[in-house]
Amino acid sequence: MAKVRLLSYTPDPQLIVAAAARMCYAPEKADVLIDKLAADPEQTEKYIKMLMELGHDSVVEHVNFTFVIEDVSRSLLAQLTRHRIASYSVRSQRYVSESAFGYITPPAIAADPEAKKVFDEAMENARASYQKLSEILTEGYIREQGIDPSDKKAVSALRKQAAEDARFVLPNACATQLVMTMNVRSLYNFFEHRCCSRAQWEIRELANQMLALVKEVAPLLFAHCGPPCVQGPCPEGKMSCGRAAEMKERYANKKD
Ligand SMILES: Cc1cc2nc3c(=O)[nH]c(=O)nc-3n(C[C@H](O)[C@H](O)[C@H](O)COP(=O)(O)OP(=O)(O)OC[C@H]3O[C@@H](n4cnc5c(N)ncnc54)[C@H](O)[C@@H]3O)c2cc1C
Repeated sequence: MAKVRLLSYTPDPQLIVAAAARMCYAPEKADVLIDKLAADPEQTEKYIKMLMELGHDSVVEHVNFTFVIEDVSRSLLAQLTRHRIASYSVRSQRYVSESAFGYITPPAIAADPEAKKVFDEAMENARASYQKLSEILTEGYIREQGIDPSDKKAVSALRKQAAEDARFVLPNACATQLVMTMNVRSLYNFFEHRCCSRAQWEIRELANQMLALVKEVAPLLFAHCGPPCVQGPCPEGKMSCGRAAEMKERYANKKD
């Protein structure tokens, strides 16, 4: 299962959002109204609830959340990075050797001994091919470039060059880690897409873990998050899971 940690976030997220919204409509000086709001959590709550109803979403862009995400597959990474309104720093497969790569086993495969055996063998084969290709390419570069094999620095650079191409045999299951920052508006969109039961299991688990983490810090801002059916009709048409009532219930009380 993905390991997710909330690394940092904009301080006083709910106050920042309420202040930004209030600033749009109040004649007072910014400092004055921020101090007033800071001293009056009930007003902050009132503004945020009003904003959620109005759909005045741009004000939530002032608040960012940064996550450290570990033990996820490169398959998940491909889906995650489709969310363009975010910042990512991902462990490089060019500069970090994958000769002993970890991998994510889908639960359906883990639950079936026959499937698991095939899967584990495929991973072992991929590791062996990666290592063999790394060696072949490194040795080729050493020969071509007339490098002294005892020159550790030069050989290390060539290993990295070899890894650039050897990584082409790595599987989607290969584990990775990254730091990701998203603002609240983008998180709303992310949760809508990825908490939905139509989303793929790994990214759905990640989205649910992230939602639990941000809800702890800013419960008002994320009170209505989850799949689209939590707030309105399901947009999935014929593909709908038909479990809107269950989802509403689940996400209304969601803590984990
Ligand atoms: C169940 C599911 C199945 C999927 N299947 C596929 C698939 O088969 N193939 C596939 O390619 N993808 C697939 N996706 C990915 C999906 O199409 C989106 O790329 C992904 O969910 C990111 O969403 P987004 O573009 O809204 O997010 P972001 O990139 O974070 O964008 C956020 C919002 O900003 C706006 N925006 C961003 N960029 C632009 C732009 N260039 N022009 C105009 N508006 C913009 C849009 O309003 C967008 O919703 C799937 C997603 C899900 C949840």
